[in-house]
Amino acid sequence: MSSRHRKTKSNRPDEREEIRSIYADLASRELPRECAVRTHCCHFRLSGHTPMLTLGEALYAARGVRASGRTKLKPHPDGACPLLGSDGRCTIYEHRPFGCRTHFCQAAGGMYPRKHVADLIQRLEALDEKLGGDGGRPLVSILPEVL
Ligand code: SF4
Repeated sequence: MSSRHRKTKSNRPDEREEIRSIYADLASRELPRECAVRTHCCHFRLSGHTPMLTLGEALYAARGVRASGRTKLKPHPDGACPLLGSDGRCTIYEHRPFGCRTHFCQAAGGMYPRKHVADLIQRLEALDEKLGGDGGRPLVSILPEVL
């Protein structure tokens, strides 16, 4: 969708119900993964990966950021995710994006096979379209724009 047709904050549908439903559906799918909270996946320079967020995920993550009293993201000194706290924990855990829920960390067992989550990715993309998004974009790029 061109920026000319992009939905503004005031006419954008609320993303919460669908995002919560997608995350709940994901959580109900049993796959052998064990997060050891090493936060390797949150250290983008180390992992070589940055979560890509659709607009619905970004809007929902932004709610988590605002709920913690922040209106801006400060770059992490180590080049890690700006949402990684000084205690080594995600500061928006309940609002973390889809990619952070599918264990792209090898230590946890590796990324979920796409066939297990393809329908959920399609739902995220459909919501992105409805909200006027431009598809998945890096967390550090899309999140500041919606805060
Ligand atoms: S949003 Fe949270 S879980 Fe995801 S990379 Fe950032 S700190 Fe890690």
